[in-house]
Amino acid sequence: MNFHDSEKMLGILEEEGYSATENPSKADLIIFNTCSIRQKAEQKFYSELGRMRFLKEKNQSVKIIVAGCIAQHEGKNILQKAPFVDFILGPQNIHILNGLLHDCSSKTIFLEDNPSLSTVDFPVKRENRVKAWVMIMYGCNNFCSYCVVPYTRGRERSRPSEHIYSEIVRLAEEGYKEITLLGQNVNSYKSDIDFPELLRGIDRVGGIERIRFVTSHPKDFSDDLIDSIGMLSKVCEHIHLPLQSGSDNILKLMNRRYTYEEYRNKILKLRRKIANIAITTDIIAGFPGETEKDHMLTIRALRELEFDGIYAFKFSARKGTRASRMDAHVSEEIKSKRLREILVVQDKITTLKNKSLEGTIQEILVESPHETEDKQITGRTRTNKIVNIPNVTLEKGRLINVEIVKGMRHSLEGKIIHNESICSHSRM
Ligand code: SAH
Ligand code: SF4
Repeated sequence: MNFHDSEKMLGILEEEGYSATENPSKADLIIFNTCSIRQKAEQKFYSELGRMRFLKEKNQSVKIIVAGCIAQHEGKNILQKAPFVDFILGPQNIHILNGLLHDCSSKTIFLEDNPSLSTVDFPVKRENRVKAWVMIMYGCNNFCSYCVVPYTRGRERSRPSEHIYSEIVRLAEEGYKEITLLGQNVNSYKSDIDFPELLRGIDRVGGIERIRFVTSHPKDFSDDLIDSIGMLSKVCEHIHLPLQSGSDNILKLMNRRYTYEEYRNKILKLRRKIANIAITTDIIAGFPGETEKDHMLTIRALRELEFDGIYAFKFSARKGTRASRMDAHVSEEIKSKRLREILVVQDKITTLKNKSLEGTIQEILVESPHETEDKQITGRTRTNKIVNIPNVTLEKGRLINVEIVKGMRHSLEGKIIHNESICSHSRM
């Protein structure tokens, strides 16, 4: 989401006549678009920001803006730590970026709640020419007890469906093949229509071949949504559905509002209705109060549910959240140990899953020539797995059929079985 916010800021700046430079000492304007989901990101930001001090000393006219969730969360504290910063801009205020550059008033901090953000159509400067992100909703109402997002991005607001459709039609006209719908909790999308209906509308947009969406919340994953995914040919067979913990005690403390059994039933239903669907998840290791028994329940869940991949994180206490004030915080040492155990279990499952694809035929959307190797292309399956194909050159944006010859931990290797573009997908 931050990356896409950066694309919007770049879009606004391009309209103002700015162009990007890789070299900070050549810049007239430096923006830090920050993430505060975990402490580590915040530490990284402050050390990067510190390095900019000397640039400002050398050139007083360079403007430095801190944007994103750290800006929202830390506000004027940033100015205390780094007085050389010119503007603080929360994620609900990026639309004022152009005004800011011409602003002669002394206001430097822009953190207001902005309910009308969802009706702003941003210019977007996209790096990728094949895949595009499309925002469908802002904010979050869930208040999971560990999470800072509801405090930094405000309440849920859905973009009107007309705005979303016209952005996607434009992207299709520009040649984009895949879109990923973005929101903190896409399945609670609600405007004049709901999320399954939005998906049905987007599925009819000619030229778009693949539709993905992140992130979904298990409690809002309805049967209607499962049926729609199963029926709509462009909606890819990959769902990212964060579990966070396999223990009901911890899920309750996290305020996730589902039990492990309820989550498991959704997964079983998804697998029943959508053949060969890939499912990925997020796990937090060492939430306050997590016992060894709770941790073992998470390990059991990973073994039972056999995710295609996971993102696992050590719990990070975030200022202002309920979890940060809870008792029985788990030591760093135990958090690290549990995270390692989680990753070891999952690595084996992911490798086995990828190996099981050897010999199958998969549809690949060619995304790029390989980063380092000549004559190698990279693409993704509909299930979002990376496939490298050696000894071929093909332009980006082609849909091709590939036979998987090798399944590894992080990627697959494939060979082309025929070069023809295929428009219908095969659920193999
Ligand atoms: N709205 C999405 C994404 C939230 S942030 C969702 O609910 O899935 C992405 C992931 O970061 C979360 O799923 C969670 O696993 C992790 N995360 C969020 N806050 C965290 C914290 N304080 N400590 C550790 N991990 C956290
Ligand atoms: Fe954070 Fe929970 Fe909202 Fe996701 S659903 S953004 S984890 S509060």
